[in-house]
Amino acid sequence: MISFKYFAEPELLTELSKDTECSLCGETTVCFPAEAQDEQGSIEAICPDCLASGKLMNRDITTVDGDMNELERQLSVLHPEMSKTEIVMLADEKKEELEKTTPPLITFEDWLWPCIDGDYCRFIGYGSRAFYDKHADKGGKNLFINSLYNKAISKAEAEYLWDEVLSEEEIKDYEDSTIEDTVFYVFRGLHSNTFVTIIDSDDEESEYCCKY
Ligand SMILES: [Zn+2]
Repeated sequence: MISFKYFAEPELLTELSKDTECSLCGETTVCFPAEAQDEQGSIEAICPDCLASGKLMNRDITTVDGDMNELERQLSVLHPEMSKTEIVMLADEKKEELEKTTPPLITFEDWLWPCIDGDYCRFIGYGSRAFYDKHADKGGKNLFINSLYNKAISKAEAEYLWDEVLSEEEIKDYEDSTIEDTVFYVFRGLHSNTFVTIIDSDDEESEYCCKY
């Protein structure tokens, strides 16, 4: 499958339906489910080619939702020479690209796509203790704790998540992730090896999910 800037290995990491008619090109192929509507009509599915080539750019339909406030904040720090208007324009451009060319994720809660170093991150996999251990030089626990996007989570809560909530075994694909009632989405910065974790839970009482 073609690769996506903000989404590694979609054939592994999200839902795809076979032999489905793409609402944009009409071809029957493997498609992402993407039910949405704008003034030009409704769509039900979109093929990887149409999504990657930007066919949603002239539509009022998005597949994901980017964290705009944090992106603007990061860009202002990185570019103190730019005016507020220039920062907003740059952030808008990045948001448009993310939201219209990225495969959709099926999540419990409506969280915002994270950013780091002034760009949106790339989704690379589902978090587990095995996953963080594999990517850390010495033990994955610190990597996990430092990667949490929701900075309101205390050290004690983060340790609890590591000890009691994170799966010990690797969650290697979308299907594996669907049996979890708390899912850890792991992202990596486009320009660095920095990891970002978003927690998504079907528990309505959960305070860990990062919406803001
Ligand atoms: Zn298509």
